[in-house]
Amino acid sequence: EKEVEGRRKGERVPHVLVFPFPAVGHVNCMLRLAQLLCLSDLRVTFLHTEYNYDRLRRNPEHVDYFRHWPSFKYRTISDGLPMESPRSAKDLEELWMSMTARTKPLLREMLSSDAGGTEEVTCIIADGILSFAADVGRELGIPTIAFRTVSVCSFWSYFCAPQLVEAGELPFQEDADLDCPIQGVPGMETFLRRRDLSSFLRGKELYSPATAFVLNETQKNAKASALIFNTFEDLEGPILSHVRALRSTIYTIGPLHALIRSKLHEQYPHQSKSFPPKFGTGLCEEDGSYLQWLDSKPPKSVVYVSFGSLTIVTRDELLEFWHGLVNSGKFFLWVIRPDMVSGDGILEDVIPAGLEEGTKERGLMLGWVSQEQVLGHDAVGGFLTHSGWNSTLESIVAGVPMVCWPYFADQQINSRFADEVWGIGLDIKDKGDRRTVEQSVRDLIENKNERLRQSADRMAMLARKAVAKGGSSYDSFDRLIQSIKAAS
Ligand code: UDP
Repeated sequence: EKEVEGRRKGERVPHVLVFPFPAVGHVNCMLRLAQLLCLSDLRVTFLHTEYNYDRLRRNPEHVDYFRHWPSFKYRTISDGLPMESPRSAKDLEELWMSMTARTKPLLREMLSSDAGGTEEVTCIIADGILSFAADVGRELGIPTIAFRTVSVCSFWSYFCAPQLVEAGELPFQEDADLDCPIQGVPGMETFLRRRDLSSFLRGKELYSPATAFVLNETQKNAKASALIFNTFEDLEGPILSHVRALRSTIYTIGPLHALIRSKLHEQYPHQSKSFPPKFGTGLCEEDGSYLQWLDSKPPKSVVYVSFGSLTIVTRDELLEFWHGLVNSGKFFLWVIRPDMVSGDGILEDVIPAGLEEGTKERGLMLGWVSQEQVLGHDAVGGFLTHSGWNSTLESIVAGVPMVCWPYFADQQINSRFADEVWGIGLDIKDKGDRRTVEQSVRDLIENKNERLRQSADRMAMLARKAVAKGGSSYDSFDRLIQSIKAAS
């Protein structure tokens, strides 16, 4: 009704199409953005691939959650691959190619047939690695904003990669000296090493179609009319100043999950802390009773271990972590996804010989948890992470220091920043052996490194400040809303 009224007056009601790349980390933070848009009274259609929507429907709790959000709705589009095709970290390249070739015309058709009707989209916020959506928006005259879901530090290193090639700093061989400094990324000259560059830029990977794709999308982002990052000024300000010189309008509105909490608290000051109920992407099924397990542990005594939604480890790597965790003598809550171990010999609930006692006494292994809740629990004193960007931000907000074992993409540079620049993590990249794991987990939980805990507390405080009324992310988000309304 509101919409019809708006039309009568000749106004268009803002209606944003939010379109993430269909991987959990991307969906997670764009779903958070979608909620924030709803909280600002905008209509939102969240575009899922049919494949992901199918996964979602198996999780009724999640579907139920959105009853709280009447201006939110899901819509689906094909990613162009048969439903039975794999879509793991190894297959992302095929997914990208398929979406660019096949999803693009479908999107064009969908948006043109909606034009002029009640479903008309007035603004598109598309994943920064789906630049075809911006092409479609341009063709149809719909303002489009790119949302790059990675850190600004990794975005900037991708942007500078062609300069690194020109200067002869890239390529380098896998067996080259990985501690050799990298000079060609402005703002990072004093601490960046070869090993801190994205896995996409290492060795032969530099010439892979996936790398070409990421670098190409990054160059396009720099020309986008507006660009959103899930970050905050006190965290990435110095690197942001380089990106700002590329001339697009930049909104820094993170950490998004903290901004949601801040906005909800403002709008519903009398609701209990648990309003609205916890939620995730709904794409992975959560295991049960870990909160009771955590409740039974002393404050800051547990290391939470998770390598995100895509990381794949070999059986040997997994065993090294297992030995390291048990030998550390600390409690551990470990997310081992059913599809996380490569090759045969998946562990099938078998605890390796010699580790039975330590595992039963101190460990809890689960397939998926609500990470935000776990990190916010008093019993958690450290996070052994793959340094995915969402995980990094969630740890920052919770004030939990990290041990960082990056796997691919932006994670290598995130972990360098966590250690060297922000002082909130111990970077153990390229070293996942049991002794390193044992020692770093001990150092973390026994608080051997004073600086870690202090920096983690300070950064958590700065994150909270950024999302509070008058903070940098709070204000940037308001500017984003104004620009969406103005363009409608
Ligand atoms: N996550 C979760 N439960 C788990 C493991 C991960 O909810 O058991 C969430 C986590 O909170 C984060 C996302 O999955 O928001 C992973 O995103 P990230 O960018 O850290 O890594 P990616 O999965 O993209 O590698």
